[in-house]
Amino acid sequence: MPRGRTPRQPARTGRQDRVAQVPLRQAKGKLSPVKPAPQKPRGGKDISATKTAHGGTDALVRPASAETLSVSKVKKRGHYNPLDPARVAEILKRLDQLYPDVKCALTHTSAWELLVATILSAQSTDVNVNRVTPELFRKYPTVEAFAALTPEQLEPDVRSTGFFRNKSRSVVGAAKKVVADFGGQVPMNMQDLLTLPGVARKTANVVLGSWFKIAEGVVVDTHVHRISRRLELTTNNDPQKIEQDLMRVIPREKWILFSHQIIWHGRKLCIARKPKCVDCPLENICHAGDKTWSTVEMHKNAKA
Ligand code: SF4
Repeated sequence: MPRGRTPRQPARTGRQDRVAQVPLRQAKGKLSPVKPAPQKPRGGKDISATKTAHGGTDALVRPASAETLSVSKVKKRGHYNPLDPARVAEILKRLDQLYPDVKCALTHTSAWELLVATILSAQSTDVNVNRVTPELFRKYPTVEAFAALTPEQLEPDVRSTGFFRNKSRSVVGAAKKVVADFGGQVPMNMQDLLTLPGVARKTANVVLGSWFKIAEGVVVDTHVHRISRRLELTTNNDPQKIEQDLMRVIPREKWILFSHQIIWHGRKLCIARKPKCVDCPLENICHAGDKTWSTVEMHKNAKA
């Protein structure tokens, strides 16, 4: 407490209590009550005049759902919590509506093919990998066929996916290990998968989740990384920490589907540059700092 100031005793009438409810600066007439500033998207357009792509209705008058209201109640109390279970549940619900039946986009017919395709997908696109793998798996139909190669022999076949020397080394190394240590079968657990060359948690989670249907973790690829930050489900940048954050807030039975849904969302709407916020059903519960259009407060630290 500042020197020289002693607490005043409350009057029996309770008058001081009422006076104290008015902020001091405001009572002196020096400051008018603070009104929230309207949010403007990048480019400076006034959102109140912006039409949506959902049939031309202004999103500012869009009726809020019960869940949205409960989120705003949290806000009103001054304790906005992006990890509020009601908010997370609403995000999952909208993703379910948007992407009800999504699967891994990498073409594969076995755990081994999925493992190879996932290794090849690093720093590449699924479309690019899917162009290469059908011919690759026709040429080398088994894990033993890959194990019999040298990395140099594989390089021409995977060159177009980029980083082909490293990828060839990883694929051939993984094949040799699967044959030597696991009887030619891709292991079904995280610990063993992580012993394979070129396999980190992301690849292991893809194989466990998409092929074996085992929810051991959450796949954190570039889309999950970016969108989890935009949706304030994490503030981390390190994929392992992001995965831990997501595992804490997403129910385990949703881990596999959530990754697929977010990956599709990242391809379709929440793209890295200029996300299509005006078309996004998550818009009014997303406060990303790099939104291109917004009807809600934007949080400057919530971005990719
Ligand atoms: S509103 Fe925009 S930034 Fe937020 S999730 Fe949708 S597309 Fe991404």
